[in-house]
Amino acid sequence: MESAYLNNLAISVEKQGPHHPAKASFPLRYGKYSEIRTSEYEFLFNLNCEIKFIRGLNASWRPHPAEQLKRTDGNDWVYYSVGDDSSDRGIISWLGEYYLPCLPYPSNSIWEINYSSNPVIMNAFAAWAQTYGNLYGSTGDRLHTKVKEFIMRIIENHDGVLYERSQKLNEIIGGNASVLPPDTRHIDYEIIPLMISDGCLYHCNFCCVKSAQKFQTRSRNDILKQIAKLKQYYSRNLVNYNGLFLGNHDALQAGENLISFSASEAYSAFGFGKSERTTPLLFMFGSVNSLLKSDIKLFERLNQLPYETYINIGLESIDSKTLAHLGKPLHQTNVEAAFKRMLDINSTYKNLEITANFVIGNGLPAAHYESLLELLQSAAISSRDKGVIYLSPLKDSPKKRELLPLIRGMQGQSRLPVYVYLIQRL
Ligand code: SF4
Repeated sequence: MESAYLNNLAISVEKQGPHHPAKASFPLRYGKYSEIRTSEYEFLFNLNCEIKFIRGLNASWRPHPAEQLKRTDGNDWVYYSVGDDSSDRGIISWLGEYYLPCLPYPSNSIWEINYSSNPVIMNAFAAWAQTYGNLYGSTGDRLHTKVKEFIMRIIENHDGVLYERSQKLNEIIGGNASVLPPDTRHIDYEIIPLMISDGCLYHCNFCCVKSAQKFQTRSRNDILKQIAKLKQYYSRNLVNYNGLFLGNHDALQAGENLISFSASEAYSAFGFGKSERTTPLLFMFGSVNSLLKSDIKLFERLNQLPYETYINIGLESIDSKTLAHLGKPLHQTNVEAAFKRMLDINSTYKNLEITANFVIGNGLPAAHYESLLELLQSAAISSRDKGVIYLSPLKDSPKKRELLPLIRGMQGQSRLPVYVYLIQRL
């Protein structure tokens, strides 16, 4: 269907981009979506007619033509900045992506950009409010029925409804996904969350995303109910998802049977096997304990699932004193063993990648950095394709790029790929 015009608005109800997100220095539009354009802005909507992206189109959009605002399923507006260098030497080199997500809530950012004080960004929000008002006041009598329906659904999805939808999502999964695995960056954090367990094993002092709960798994019945409700929740827009996050903080500890059951049920219910989509991605967190105690059969089974699977493990440090300082009840020998197992699994299983997090930031002993560097320099690997090491700044670390030289130093000497991990919620 061609664009329809309503006053100064060009409306496209059905657009089709590539089937899955790709890493590009300019925002690619992927999947099926709808669009409204004015001479100054582009507003994009998902298939449920909920606002998803806002981007400026003319010279007054001074940040950079590739920058944009994205509304997440948790109803946060995240500003995608390209920083001051959009080339391959810029943000991509330290994040593995071409943009820096600037979050509207406290996180562990390495370079804090307060977009809410930028008048250009505020003008973009005002333009969206004005466009919404124009749609609300329009009669659209001469428009095609499809366009009229599209406008009506946008009007229904006002700010209050979008907020309630995000709360509904938490209600369905019985909690909130307070942090997503760093590997979800590969699909722009666009995952369907499915909780198969709650709590974690360690309750580390330094952690800002933990819950007070002890680790426990969900029942199969609970998981099936979540899947049925999630299918209804995502509705028409389900076709745009190709990633599943098994939550919460240590899904690997849930064991072979529950993980396989959940991943397989979700695969059929969410239509991940549909022909035009690429292999879906499965994400979860694991811990040192769950990685070490898991039987090899679990990894063999995961490798056979119709997914590419990423398991992210919080190793934090290879130095016992630092682990004690962080309040993580582990010894360096446990972390060494987990690191070795990560390398073994990555070299054995084609469809599995284990990645690991280490902390960085102020106040950590020198031995932490020395031992980490030694570990990364001597890692026994045959290929650099897998086993990304994420450096996660502690929450109170400086936020004006002071940590970048340290990160660059690690990247230059590590045998494994090294990127920064910025904590993002759903
Ligand atoms: S770092 Fe992981 S194990 Fe430690 S408290 Fe946070 S979620 Fe739990």
